[in-house]
Amino acid sequence: MLSYSDARQKVVDVAGAIRRPFHREIIEIEQAFGRILAAQVNADRDYPPFDRSVRDGFAVRSADASAAGARLDCIGELKAGGSFSRVVGPGQCVEIMTGAGVPKGADAVVMVEYTKREGRTIALERAVKAGEHIVPRGNEARSGSLLVPAKTRMGYAEMALAAQAGATRLQVFAKPSLAILSTGDEVVDARSTPGPLQVRNSNGISIEILARTAGADPIQMGNAPDEKTALRAAIERGLERDILVLSGGVSMGKYDLVEQVLADLGAEFHYTGVAIRPGRPAVFGTCRNKLVFGLPGNPVSTMVTFELFVLPAIDVFSGAPPRPLPIFRAKLATSVNEKGSLVHFLPARIEWEGKEARVSQLAWQGSGDVVALASANGFLVVGPEQPEIAAGELADVLPRRGAI
Ligand code: AMP
Ligand code: MG
Repeated sequence: MLSYSDARQKVVDVAGAIRRPFHREIIEIEQAFGRILAAQVNADRDYPPFDRSVRDGFAVRSADASAAGARLDCIGELKAGGSFSRVVGPGQCVEIMTGAGVPKGADAVVMVEYTKREGRTIALERAVKAGEHIVPRGNEARSGSLLVPAKTRMGYAEMALAAQAGATRLQVFAKPSLAILSTGDEVVDARSTPGPLQVRNSNGISIEILARTAGADPIQMGNAPDEKTALRAAIERGLERDILVLSGGVSMGKYDLVEQVLADLGAEFHYTGVAIRPGRPAVFGTCRNKLVFGLPGNPVSTMVTFELFVLPAIDVFSGAPPRPLPIFRAKLATSVNEKGSLVHFLPARIEWEGKEARVSQLAWQGSGDVVALASANGFLVVGPEQPEIAAGELADVLPRRGAI
């Protein structure tokens, strides 16, 4: 059986090899958070566009102030956005504010904190070096140079940079479409009242949120019964999207029909199990040139396997490099012992004491226990290479998306 990292790599390879058009669209910059840039943004001019003072103080000629104690004649004032037509001559200075252009003749700025004013005369308490507190024109970026490359995931800093360059309409890749299909005779809509032995569909909402926050455009297809004809019809509709995510029906039970129906539809399976718990029966295939994920229906299994396997597919189909799993190390509060050949993803609470992350495993009733997962903000990841970890030792943890 594949390890979860090999299974992720498989997803990336298969998704990358699928031939499908990458549609593009133009959007307003405010809509661009999390979107993948399709056309790079270039600098429309030099940045900074002028020699910029980065302190409030006095623009001086450094040659006048190579030692502390210089006394200069202040010939004017420059605020941000203001212009100054005169040249700063020997023995002269200009009062200047942060963000203003350094006047001709001056080559350094002395912070106001290190000066004393006596009428028009400014006494400098420190020596000044050429270039001090000035960012020269073009030192951040040259006009025409690349600011934000294509395939960048737009975050607030990239958006600010695009705004700075006046790129307020951005060309991005279209979001991959993702169909969500729950399966199971016992599953009813979350808005309905279940019979005594029925359960409400909770996977629909967790998958939708995971998909949307990952950058896909999800649509709900409801629930299909554990019956081949109806299941097949629902799957065929789901295959109209770029990615079909099914929950339930992939285990060994007599009514776990997802794999059979997919096989009947000509699916090629890339894996039908991964060495993890929860989530071992997870299935990944291609069918009609679309990606299909059969996630086990137990809600915690569904969420873990979506995070591990569907997210990288969304990244690749979004036109971006797949994001790594943000696993980090935290100090274990109480010992764990999870023998066996599987990697366990155990609901856990991660807290920080100063800079030190500490993790405690939460009591849970297995992969159906959404109650436990909702009070967890991450998973303790325990693999066969170190099945026993004592309290106080470091362990791998995976944050629960959006919970930290
Ligand atoms: P399955 O993977 O179909 O064997 O289902 C495993 C468990 O998950 C069963 O207890 C199901 O009732 C439950 N389950 C399946 N689908 C859902 C769903 N959409 N929402 C909540 N629980 C589900
Ligand atoms: Mg089922």
